[in-house]
Order: sequence, then structure tokens, then C-alpha cells
Amino acid sequence: MVHRALPRLDRDNRAFWTSGESGELVLHRCQSCASYVHPPRPVCRTCLSENVVPEAVAGTGEVYSFTVNYQKWHPKMEVPFVIARIQLDGVDGVLLTSNVVGCDPESVDIGDRVAVEFEQHEDVFVPVFRRVAS
Ligand SMILES: [Zn+2]
Repeated sequence: MVHRALPRLDRDNRAFWTSGESGELVLHRCQSCASYVHPPRPVCRTCLSENVVPEAVAGTGEVYSFTVNYQKWHPKMEVPFVIARIQLDGVDGVLLTSNVVGCDPESVDIGDRVAVEFEQHEDVFVPVFRRVAS
């Protein structure tokens, strides 16, 4: 498992970082204009509405872009690993930055189909992605 610095949970980000306990990926969505708001904020950046609530999204998508990290930034960090931007199915306007796990980092490619899974660290459930057959 990747060594991680964990986020400090607050009113705005708690749903995103804890929804994995129920197996769902949750993003905040504006109920006025339907835009997704990520990273989570209390105000929609498109229409400035404060009617922004967590909403479950498809946990599937594809690798939009990625890089392979070889730098051991922390003594406990295991390298190499993949940092990817994921285009989630049905979610416009958000590229979710995450990791692609469970495969040779050198084998990852743009367009690979992926599905979310969660790494639990204390009360935080970090969404990561694993490749699936396309
Ligand atoms: Zn809005």
C-alpha cells in the first residue's frame, strides 16, 4: 500500500474522503446548474450557488493522462507508482487526480479503462483506480 499523507477532514471534504466506506465514489454537485464541484467547495464555481451537495457518481472511467513517479519523496514511499488524471464516466468538467494500482506502472496507457476501489487509512477512504477489461 502506498504511504500517504492523509487529508484533514472538514465539513466540505468529508463526503469525498469517507464515502468509500460504503463503496461509493462521491463528488459534490451543484443542484442549481448541475456542475460538479471538485475539489469540494461550499459554493459552485460556475454559478456561485451554495446549493452544492455530495452525489454518488460512476466509479468507472478512463485514464485521461498520467505520469510514473520514480522519486522517493518520503522514506516509506514505495516507487514507482502511477499518478493519473481520471475521466469518470458521466462526469463532465472534472478530471480526478488519483493513482492506478495493481499493475506494472510502465504498462499504464492513456485510454485504459479503470474502476475505483478504496484504500482505507484510519477514517479516510482514498479512491484509487484499477484497470479493467475494456
Ligand atoms: Zn452551479
